[in-house]
Amino acid sequence: MTLGTGVGGGIVADGAIYRGAHGFAAEIGHFTVDPRGPRCACGEPGHWEAYASGTALGRMGAEWASAGDAPALLARAGGDPAAVTGVDVGDLAREGDADALALVGEYADRVALGLAALANILDPERIVVGGGLVELGDLLFAPLRVAFEHHVEGRSYRPAVPIVPAELGERAGAVGAAALARTLVGDGGGDGGGDGGGGGAGP
Ligand SMILES: [Zn+2]
Repeated sequence: MTLGTGVGGGIVADGAIYRGAHGFAAEIGHFTVDPRGPRCACGEPGHWEAYASGTALGRMGAEWASAGDAPALLARAGGDPAAVTGVDVGDLAREGDADALALVGEYADRVALGLAALANILDPERIVVGGGLVELGDLLFAPLRVAFEHHVEGRSYRPAVPIVPAELGERAGAVGAAALARTLVGDGGGDGGGDGGGGGAGP
């Protein structure tokens, strides 16, 4: 999955990208977690993306700043809560600000909620996370792993699912697209590379 402006996804099963019957599979950001929730970029209310994207982290930060719960964050945004972005929250968390760290923790829990739901359906071998938010490193991954274990079904019976940063980082989408192009051109029907995963980046 990718955590950036939106939430993107790709499912690799048995070494191949799973595309669904019509090529629309793995739009993992667009399932409803709260029908009365905030509107998603796609127009529907309460999709997971509206809680788990970097944009959503910025919106949470704006809410906290507006309520007086994150003074340093408000100051960073020049005193205007509406100007708070996910990047502001991330930067401040890396500087050790307690409010920003708490925001990232709550954000991680929302990401984990959706990942646990997907894991309940797909039972993945591993979950690879790319996108801009990965730059937060363990500030994000540590609470994410804890929250995921808390939310996933049958956690005391199933093997732990590794949740790891994408090795190709921000380049994963471009590398995956190039690998796909190579298979489309068809150099003798080779498989074109099972490590290009993570195709289909989010909006
Ligand atoms: Zn949506």
